[in-house]
Amino acid sequence: MTNNEQLFKTAQQLLVGGVNSPVRAFRAVGGTPILLAKGKGPYVYDTDGKEYVDYVAGYGPAILGHSHEAVVDAVCRTAAEGFGCGATHPLEIELARLICSALPGIERLRFTSSGTEAVMTAIRLARGYTKRRLILKFAGCYHGHSDALLVKSGSGAATLGQPDSAGIPQELTALTMVCPYNDLDSVRQLAERHGADLACIIVEPVVGNMGVILPQPDFLPGLRQICDATGALLLFDEVITGFRLGWQGAQGLFGIRPDLTILGKIIGGGLPVGAVGGPAAIMELLAPLGPVYQAGTLSGNPLAMACGLATITTLQALDPYARLESHTRTLTGALVQLAAEAGLAVNCNQAGSLFSLFFTDQPVRNAQEAEASSRSLFQRYFHSMARQGVLLAPSAFEAAFVSVAHDQHTAERTLTAARHALAACRAVG
Ligand SMILES: *Cc1c(COP(=O)(O)O)cnc(C)c1O
Repeated sequence: MTNNEQLFKTAQQLLVGGVNSPVRAFRAVGGTPILLAKGKGPYVYDTDGKEYVDYVAGYGPAILGHSHEAVVDAVCRTAAEGFGCGATHPLEIELARLICSALPGIERLRFTSSGTEAVMTAIRLARGYTKRRLILKFAGCYHGHSDALLVKSGSGAATLGQPDSAGIPQELTALTMVCPYNDLDSVRQLAERHGADLACIIVEPVVGNMGVILPQPDFLPGLRQICDATGALLLFDEVITGFRLGWQGAQGLFGIRPDLTILGKIIGGGLPVGAVGGPAAIMELLAPLGPVYQAGTLSGNPLAMACGLATITTLQALDPYARLESHTRTLTGALVQLAAEAGLAVNCNQAGSLFSLFFTDQPVRNAQEAEASSRSLFQRYFHSMARQGVLLAPSAFEAAFVSVAHDQHTAERTLTAARHALAACRAVG
């Protein structure tokens, strides 16, 4: 038995399913989860010391690669001065100033300890501001694991939400409406019927949680227009896309300003952080200035602030976005070419340094189309790549993340592995 297998056996006796977040358990791909002991640059290392080219990036934060020197230094220096004293720390101000300077729609911020919390706060704020009850989300978009957002669409184009988890009474999801992504008509229909009671529309402006899915050109402008017409707030969940797709995230890329922006992942650089931001007129409804309550013992924790600040400052200095995009474009172009040579039908969606290879010959524009791709081919592809030392997220519906540390060498290793993996898929497909 490998060290990895041994450790995972022990983990299962102590942690539920051996993990602290379910996708890590490999249920979507089968086999024993790979336990990772460390990461450096574009590589991660399992508990047997095996090296992988990493496309998981801690599910998004590691845009500089793992344990970047400037980030490690900043965290260590801050740790030496205490882990947080329960008062506003100067680093909170510095990180807030940097985020506000990057995103023109953000005048005020509230930091939380996770994206989930930031989304909960944004929804409460939208309801408090509009004094309305209903919220609208899109099937396949993930906004954390709070009750009101763990909702799936029923049958039919646009539906009232059904709980997507045990332990959530239907009453708690009844105020959440669900539409298919990229389907403006169904949003318009709901807005016509429920517009006067609609507090907000929440959307991943580029989806990273059903694989990567791009908005059709009219989708985000259409949502902005519907919100303006109904008085609902537009919430962009940029937990993945913020500081990932560009210095101004997806809102800068598409030129659409949301009312509230939700951030996480990269702004914490790998330590636990979330944030919600927007105009003072909305944000100042939050406690202590306003009646919308929200709090957190570890919110704005100095270690997390130091980690995020060093990450974003480094990004600002490097301005890596054009290079990340072109590196990723070359890589995905080559992957599609290799799949074609192997006689496999694939569709690759890419936005900047995010991409997904879907095993389908059809375009993927929403959750239904993503789910129509072949999971069994993804499984084989995943395991073959992992055996060859290239690590993807263990689900067909997670994005692959390219970091600043990925280079020609990691690309060559990836493509060599993919040539075998795709041929193996073809052999059994
Ligand atoms: C990861 C994620 C969240 C939840 O963030 P946590 O820090 O895991 O709570 C919310 N929205 C999106 C788009 C995410 O990718």
